[in-house]
Parts: sequence; C-alpha cells; structure tokens
Amino acid sequence: MSPRPIYLDNNATTRVDPRVVETMLPYFTEQFGNPSSMHAFGAKVGGAVREARERVQALLGAQHDHEIVFTSGGTESDNAALLAALDMNPARDEIVTSAVEHPAILSLCEHLTKTRGTQVHMIGVDRQGRLDIDAYKKALSDKTAIASIMWANNETGTINPVIDLAELAKGAGALFHTDAVQAVGKVPIDLKWTPIDMLSLSGHKLHGPKGIGALYVKRGVRFKSLMKGGHQERGRRAGTENVPGIVGLGTAAKLALDTLAEDTARMSRLRDRLEKGLLQRIGSCFVTGDPMSRLPNTCNIAFEFIEGEAILLLLNREGIAASSGSACTSGSLEPSHVMRAMRVPQTAAHGATRFSFSRENTEEDVDHVLAVLPGIVEKLRELSPFWSKGKGDAGSFQPTYA
Ligand SMILES: *Cc1c(COP(=O)(O)O)cnc(C)c1O
Repeated sequence: MSPRPIYLDNNATTRVDPRVVETMLPYFTEQFGNPSSMHAFGAKVGGAVREARERVQALLGAQHDHEIVFTSGGTESDNAALLAALDMNPARDEIVTSAVEHPAILSLCEHLTKTRGTQVHMIGVDRQGRLDIDAYKKALSDKTAIASIMWANNETGTINPVIDLAELAKGAGALFHTDAVQAVGKVPIDLKWTPIDMLSLSGHKLHGPKGIGALYVKRGVRFKSLMKGGHQERGRRAGTENVPGIVGLGTAAKLALDTLAEDTARMSRLRDRLEKGLLQRIGSCFVTGDPMSRLPNTCNIAFEFIEGEAILLLLNREGIAASSGSACTSGSLEPSHVMRAMRVPQTAAHGATRFSFSRENTEEDVDHVLAVLPGIVEKLRELSPFWSKGKGDAGSFQPTYA
C-alpha cells in the first residue's frame, strides 16, 4: 500500500490550481485566435490577455498594466532584465548581484564575464543568508548598469530588504532588478511606492502553469526585447503570446491576491509546527536562513553527518517530497552554492533539507513528516562513519529559536 503523497517541494514548483486550468481551457480550443489579428478571433483573445495583465498588475501593486511584460518564465525575465540594462547604457557596464541568486542570474553573469568581460560584483552573505550591505554599497558606482538582488531566496527563504537596496542603487544612478519568483504570492508587494525598476516572476511557483512568467518594467525605464521578432508586448517581448499561459497566470495572480493574508498565515503556522517538532525530536540539526526575515512557507533544516540525498530517498519511500539544495543543482555531490556562500559547515551543509509549503498543505502533512523523519535520520546516522554524538563542527551555528 503506497501512502498518500505529501508534496513539500513547492519552491521547486506548485500544482496548477484546478481553477487556473479551468480558465485556460477555452484558449486551447474555441478561443484560439492570435491577439495581433485584426478580426474577431484576435479581439476576443486580446481582451483576455488584457484582463490577465491587469490581474498581474494588481498582485504587484504596479501603477500601469503596461508595466507588465509576459515572458516564458522566471529565467527569461531575469535574462531579459540584465541584458536590457547592459544594452541601454554603454557607459555603464558593470553588474552588482549576490552569491546566492538563482542560476538564471548567476549563469548569465558568468557567461557575460567570459564572453564580454563584464565586471560582476558578487556580494556575499552572512550565516543567515543576509546580504553584506556594506559590500553592496561599496560595489555600486557610476559604472554600475544594474544591481540585481533576489527578493527571497529559494533555498532558505531569507528575504532581502529590496526596497532599501533599490534606493541605494538609484543613489548610484543604476537600475535595480529583483528576482521575486519566490516572493510573489507569499509576501505583500506594492511596487508603485518603491524605486524598484524591474521585477521577475514565474507562473509555476504560484499555482500557475509552467512556461509563463512576467517581467515588471517600471514606466520610464528604457527597455529592449531580448527576443528579436514581432512587436508583441509593446515591442518588449517578440513572439506570439502564450495566450492560455497568460490567462492561467492571470487567474493564479488573482487567486494569490484574494487569499494572500490567510495563505501566508496558514503556511507559516504549518512551517513553524514542522520546524519546532523536528528540532524537538532530532538532535544535531538547525534551521538555516534568517529567522527574522523569511518566507512564510520555507523551512530549510541542516541535519549533521548525513546526506540530504539519502534523506530525500527515504522520505520519498514514505510518499513525502522534499528537496536538498535546489532542484537545479541536485545531482552533484557538492553542497549548494547557497549553503557554501553562507559557510554552513560541510558536515551539516550536506544534510540540508528543504521543506516548502503551499496553501494546499495540511496539518496531517506535517504530522506525517514528524512521525517518520526522526526514524530516518537515526537510521542514516547509524550508518554514517562521521556520526558521533556531540562532535559537530557546527559550533555557534546552533538554532537561535526553537
Ligand atoms: C524557479 C525560480 C526561477 C526560474 O523560474 P522558471 O520559471 O522556472 O524559469 C528563477 N528564480 C528563482 C528564485 C526561482 O525560484
């Protein structure tokens, strides 16, 4: 008998809400028009795209609906933002970013350094994953084209003070972009009052479909399409619109906004229950991330002297889906770049396990993890050559809260 599956990997992707699917379906069949067409087929679809754009605008608290550019997802939005910033102002050719960004930013930066010699200032973080603000300030200059710092980290949930960071970037005359893929739908956002120039989001991280996302581009910010082609999206994203995806993202945005307060309260309650329960039941483990400023849905616990991969395999046998490091980097035996940047001790970084909630999780989900995980950890530690009670090198890295 296989146990009821428990999905606690919502930072990797979320289930598409059935209400989202419902609104998408007509746009695969009857409403198949191209929004650029000058006939009724196109006009109908154009209205749906407009409504979806207004829903994303509302979720972000953007001033104008044309500040929203639909893209194929978080990765494209991140790439488009940085490349547009470099293209728009040749006098500024440097990037300031952080060591714990998503590969969508980090791989692009690496590529730019290799192929264009772009100077990239990679700002470090402390043991809670908090950005080194002094180093960030020092890196900003009249050479900075854009500063790009994620709103919230996908592995630890640590939230950055992006409004202050944007202010600092503006002070240096640079653009500010934030990868808010993990923040949108989990924290209140009201962009019209902020100096943030660009923001990336992705549909499949908020119960929308995969392969659709958006880039917010503040009015007045000069911007050039990453793709070369037609004049869709006011010339800012060439290519026929993914209409069903856009409609789905619009519905997902509306649902997220409608229930944001109760969803976040619920997720953080479940998250805290899991965290407290695990810390009580299991020794030599601690929570990573900033306890003072964290996403409500993310819990990353480092279990010393065991491999996260092994924990995941045994959890999977119990029908529980979690993650170690990020899905994009798993498969390698190195601890993730985030754990390394935070200088989590090696013996613990390997055992870092991420549980990420959505509005669909329940208390029973948490109770099941609490029932099986202590046994799994014990079993693995018995097999571990490094395990000897009380001999962690975590030192001062113990949990600061229970
Ligand atoms: C998932 C994710 C992305 C990538 O988004 P896609 O839509 O999958 O391309 C970018 N940044 C962060 C922080 C993410 O969590």
